[in-house]
Amino acid sequence: MSEYKVHIINTGKVRIEPELAFGGDHCSTAKAAGFSIKRSPKIWLPVNVFLVETPDKLVLLDTGWDHSMSPNGVFDKKAQIKSLGSSLLYHVNQGVVAKGMTASEQLAKLGIKPSDIDYVTISHLDCDHANGLRQFKDAKNIMVARSEYEYAKKHPYIRFKKKWWDDVDLNLYDWNDSQGPFGRSYDLLGDKSIELINISGHTAGLVATKVTNSDGKYFLYYGDGGYGEKSWKEMVTSGISMDKSAQKKSLEWIREESLDPNCVRSLACHGIEEKPEVFEF
Ligand SMILES: [Zn+2]
Repeated sequence: MSEYKVHIINTGKVRIEPELAFGGDHCSTAKAAGFSIKRSPKIWLPVNVFLVETPDKLVLLDTGWDHSMSPNGVFDKKAQIKSLGSSLLYHVNQGVVAKGMTASEQLAKLGIKPSDIDYVTISHLDCDHANGLRQFKDAKNIMVARSEYEYAKKHPYIRFKKKWWDDVDLNLYDWNDSQGPFGRSYDLLGDKSIELINISGHTAGLVATKVTNSDGKYFLYYGDGGYGEKSWKEMVTSGISMDKSAQKKSLEWIREESLDPNCVRSLACHGIEEKPEVFEF
C-alpha cells in the first residue's frame, strides 16, 4: 500500500529571460535579469506547488503566486507591480495566475483549508515562491530555513520584499541533520521521512524536499535548484546565482539523486514537462 500521495498543482506561469533558467556557468546576472542590450525573447514557465499527503499530515511545498498578481485572472501589469512591490522585479519576472488557480483556491476544491495544513515549507524566498505565502498564514507551521531568511533580509531592495510575509508567522529553522551536498538538512517530522535539504547556490538557504517511504523509495522536489529535467540531464545551471560553485555542486547532487533507482519522481518548480497530476508511492 502506498504511504504518500503527491498532488502536482499548477498555479500559473512566470515569464523570464531564457538565460535566467538556463544561462549556464558564464551567464551574468544582468543578462539573466533582462538588463543586457542583446536580449532573447522571454519564455513562459509553469509555477508549480506540491501537496504531500502523508498517513497523518498535510504538507504543502511552496505557495506560488498570490491572487493579487492577477486579480481578474489575466495578465495585469499594474496589479503585478503592486503585488510584487517593485517595478524592477516586474522587469525580471512577470506572472499570471488564472481565475481559481491560486494554490489556496485549488486546495479549497479538494476540501482543504489553509488551517488544515500541518506544514507549509518554502524552498526559498524568491517572489514566485513566497509572494503567495499570505494565502497560508493560518497554516499550522510555515517553515523557512533561517539561513534563507537571513539572506533575504540582507537583500531587501532588489530581490526580496518583506511585505510578502509581513503578517505571516514564519517558523525559522536551523539545520538539525546532515543530508545533501553540504551536509545541512532539517528533519521535518523527526523520523527522516521528510528532509529539507540545503542546496545552496541559487539562494543561500534554498532547500530541496526529499520524501522517503518505508521501502526507501523517494520523491525529490528541488525547487529552483534546476529548471526541470534539462537542468540536471545537461548540467546547465541557471543565470541567477548567489554562489556559482555551490550551485553547481547542488545540481550535481540533484542529478545523482534523480538518477538513483529509488527515486520515483524528481521535480522542479518550473519544469515544462510537469503536468498537474496525482501520484502515490
Ligand atoms: Zn522560481
